[in-house]
Amino acid sequence: MKNADDILRDKLQQVLKEGLKTEVEPRAYSSEMVNQLVSRLQAIPPDHYADKLTVAGVTLTPYAPPEDDDDLKQSCETCMYFVIHRQYCDLPELHIPVEKDWSCRLWRI
Ligand code: SF4
Repeated sequence: MKNADDILRDKLQQVLKEGLKTEVEPRAYSSEMVNQLVSRLQAIPPDHYADKLTVAGVTLTPYAPPEDDDDLKQSCETCMYFVIHRQYCDLPELHIPVEKDWSCRLWRI
């Protein structure tokens, strides 16, 4: 039986599959950019998931920086915020169920 995380994960996946345009770039490589994105995310009500996905630049596939090789693909699986046993993003400003192959621009190793 599906739990609440599973149901929400399916919903988020559906929204993204339907073509929600999320802000994939620029990536949050500088502390200024991280702070800016965190502030924007904090201003979004917790249940406004499409807005969260958009600002964080969530995608259903790993992000491959143009200058890097495949080993350095950015995915939830390799992100410090990924809670593996729950398949969950623990970044306080996101707090959403994800899958290991999803990605966002706040990815951090
Ligand atoms: S912060 Fe990390 S775990 Fe959360 S959605 Fe972004 S890449 Fe995935």
